[in-house]
Amino acid sequence: MIMQTLTDPLSILSRLLFQPVPVDDSGDEVVLAIERAAGRWPVLQPALEGAAELVSAGGVYETPAGASELALVRFPVGWAFRAVSPSPTGLACTCDGWPPPVYAGPGDGLYCADILAYLLALYLERPFSALPYAPDELWQVTQEELRLQMTRATFNQWLLGSAVVPGASTPFSLTVVVRNRYAQEWLTHRLDPVISRTLTNVAGYRVQVRFVVS
Ligand SMILES: [Zn+2]
Repeated sequence: MIMQTLTDPLSILSRLLFQPVPVDDSGDEVVLAIERAAGRWPVLQPALEGAAELVSAGGVYETPAGASELALVRFPVGWAFRAVSPSPTGLACTCDGWPPPVYAGPGDGLYCADILAYLLALYLERPFSALPYAPDELWQVTQEELRLQMTRATFNQWLLGSAVVPGASTPFSLTVVVRNRYAQEWLTHRLDPVISRTLTNVAGYRVQVRFVVS
């Protein structure tokens, strides 16, 4: 994960929210941090409790370097990912609960459980979790799904033998080498909707794909 410094705006924001742990306090650091924040901003209590659960369960996931998202957040089993990103005024989230109906907390006061989980993980210096699939695994699983959605002839003609280019791919953006220029054209212009939809279903977040010829 990206190392935070004391002057990093997000590190400052996390400290404003959760405040330094008092020296004489003992107990669970997650509980202490959310109690202090909820004491100052009672309206954030439900979102803070959700954030505490997410952080305790390892639900804050690392995004690749250079991604516009700061982190992906979800409960490890069953939930879809939400993306936490910088916004013009602070942080934004892709969940239904953002923007919240009331302003509360430091900065722009627009906090959902996911944003609070991201800031809590930063504040407590908890390591982020790795995304479930590396780029090549993501493409492998997606191809198995696509195989079920297409005729064998279509799959074999356009996708058989395709492979992720590791150096040019991240879990957010795949570069896939295909057998020839016809396959590249067809996949890019005809099959892109079904491929993008399947990739996003498998990953749990939006994934871009680009087809190239070796
Ligand atoms: Zn959210």
